[in-house]
Amino acid sequence: TKQLLTVDELKVSFQTRDGQNQAVRGVSFHVGAGETVGIVGESGSGKSVTAKAIMGLITPPGKVTNGKIVFQGTDLSGLSEGEWRKLRGNRIAMVFQDPMTSLNPVKTIGFQMAEVIRRHRGLGKKEAIQEAVEMLRKVGITEPERRVKQYPHEFSGGMRQRVMIAMALSCSPELLIADEPTTALDVTIQAQILDLLKQLKDESDTAVLLITHDLGVVAQVCSRVVVMYGGMVMEEGTVEDIFYRTGHPYTQGLLRSLPKRAGAGKERLVPIEGSPPDLIDPPAGCPFRDRCPYAFGKCSELPEMAELGEGHRSLCWLVQEHSTLEQALAEGEA
Ligand code: SF4
Ligand code: MG
Repeated sequence: TKQLLTVDELKVSFQTRDGQNQAVRGVSFHVGAGETVGIVGESGSGKSVTAKAIMGLITPPGKVTNGKIVFQGTDLSGLSEGEWRKLRGNRIAMVFQDPMTSLNPVKTIGFQMAEVIRRHRGLGKKEAIQEAVEMLRKVGITEPERRVKQYPHEFSGGMRQRVMIAMALSCSPELLIADEPTTALDVTIQAQILDLLKQLKDESDTAVLLITHDLGVVAQVCSRVVVMYGGMVMEEGTVEDIFYRTGHPYTQGLLRSLPKRAGAGKERLVPIEGSPPDLIDPPAGCPFRDRCPYAFGKCSELPEMAELGEGHRSLCWLVQEHSTLEQALAEGEA
């Protein structure tokens, strides 16, 4: 099948005083048209940098040093800044963690929405405001006629994120990249925003790439998952592959650190013991080796990606010849 987005062997590094920080070290995955894919990993895994690279937003001291990003058959690495601008917000839209940073505090919500609508659809001022009202209604904001005249600080965090999602979708992008869109929100509002994303997704053909540290969020919205660690893809598969037959000890760790009851109050993700690798001087071999409970001799070499099933792959020596981590462990004990 034809892919909407293909990321192939992407490498991104940042020049720092201490050397090159190799934030993304050869990441490959794809997103099909209309599909919802989650990229999950702890902070420093390279997931946000990957998203920024797809948007053409890596700027010095950052640099894409390798790989291809192909969107609708076009290699994006060849685009000029002007062509990037046309693509961004038009065919690829992005929603960030903190909507306040993307909204202008001294302009009304309606004005800002209308500006985006006019730019993309060439509507007149009045029509654009009317459209903004409709969009606010669509994303579940009550009394939109009154709200449209208000300023960002008069909106709650959840409402601001609804506005951002509405603006992102106003130009019917083929791909929406959402980077931790609910992380700053409390659990109830978070669930509402995820429901909204799901609902809007069902109503349009927009594909979604959801970047999150929270595997629970992925389970609610995505059909496929890419698990990142230390700037690399550790595992990729359907939500079922990841939750019921994981092929990677890191994914297992993430699953174990999920709150036990779904939607259970304020419990936060408990980090896996230890800390992520230093990407200025990354360890040879498996990036997860220092924290992996199953590490063995061979793990000092970088594993090869193993196919565990259709579309299910894992970067782990332990599961090379097995279809799940469970099987690999059982075999090891036998
Ligand atoms: Fe653990 Fe080794 Fe697998 Fe890495 S390759 S996840 S260290 S078992
Ligand atoms: Mg991030």
